[in-house]
Amino acid sequence: MPTLVHSGKVRDVYRDGDDLILVASDRVSVYDVVLPTPVPDKGRVLTRLSLWWFDQLEDLVPNHIIGEVSDPPEWAGRAVRCRSLSMVPVECVARGYLSGSARAEYDRSGSVCGIALPPGLVEGSRLPTPIFTPTTKAPIGEHDEALTYEQVVDQVGADVAARLRDLTLAIYERGSDIARDRGIIIADTKLEFGFSRDGTLTLADEVLTPDSSRFWPADHWEPGRPQHPFDKQMVRDWAVGTGWNKQPPGPEVPGYVVSATRARYVEAYERLTGLPF
Ligand code: ATP
Ligand code: MG
Repeated sequence: MPTLVHSGKVRDVYRDGDDLILVASDRVSVYDVVLPTPVPDKGRVLTRLSLWWFDQLEDLVPNHIIGEVSDPPEWAGRAVRCRSLSMVPVECVARGYLSGSARAEYDRSGSVCGIALPPGLVEGSRLPTPIFTPTTKAPIGEHDEALTYEQVVDQVGADVAARLRDLTLAIYERGSDIARDRGIIIADTKLEFGFSRDGTLTLADEVLTPDSSRFWPADHWEPGRPQHPFDKQMVRDWAVGTGWNKQPPGPEVPGYVVSATRARYVEAYERLTGLPF
């Protein structure tokens, strides 16, 4: 019998013998608050997409997937059995474009995670070359903090730090090349790694989904203004438009916003994989 060991904002984690089962729900969080209204199929879309990416990356890095779990039936399509890893306590972020917290850091200091960048970059600018911008894995309720590469070396040692950086950039480059051909810019992404029992550095968690990455339609890309992400942006904009103060509880989301958001997730999946959802 799987036992629930962790309930994140969007996913639930169960332990089943030696394995973990990650169950993706249809919950949506905005500004770290889970809204009362689910987006149908979101959990299945993100699970399918992650599995598809693990396959695309298999020759670069081993992954934690053992297989899909469809018992109980309500888990079908959105639950995966994975090897339980000893997780690396660093969120491995790769960025090819400047946005979000990195843009704020650049505006203050001209650098991101200790990496100096050329002057004149704006929201959405493409970086001269993709960069590794790791963060802490903050406990629930706290925010991830930027780490310099030297801080990662202090935490995990020089050898593991170099492997994390090189793998993160290689995965980002593979993923963003594939996506680019299909009209999607992956501006940045967050990866998680862990060690298997035999010491193999293994890609874990979810990978290259709209929840772990910024996906932008390439044909609307225009540096200097916010882009049009393939995710819950519509829900976010709608929620802010109601005057909501970003504190729990979040507002009930109307049907037209829910269906437009569902369509956006499905479109990202279908464009990337070329498969019908
Ligand atoms: P948030 O809602 O902000 O994402 P969270 O990260 O705590 O919060 P989840 O992402 O749902 O919530 O939790 C998944 C957890 O499982 C993460 O802590 C992740 O590091 C961990 N994890 C993922 N894959 C593995 C694995 N193979 N072995 C061990 N832990 C894993
Ligand atoms: Mg998480």
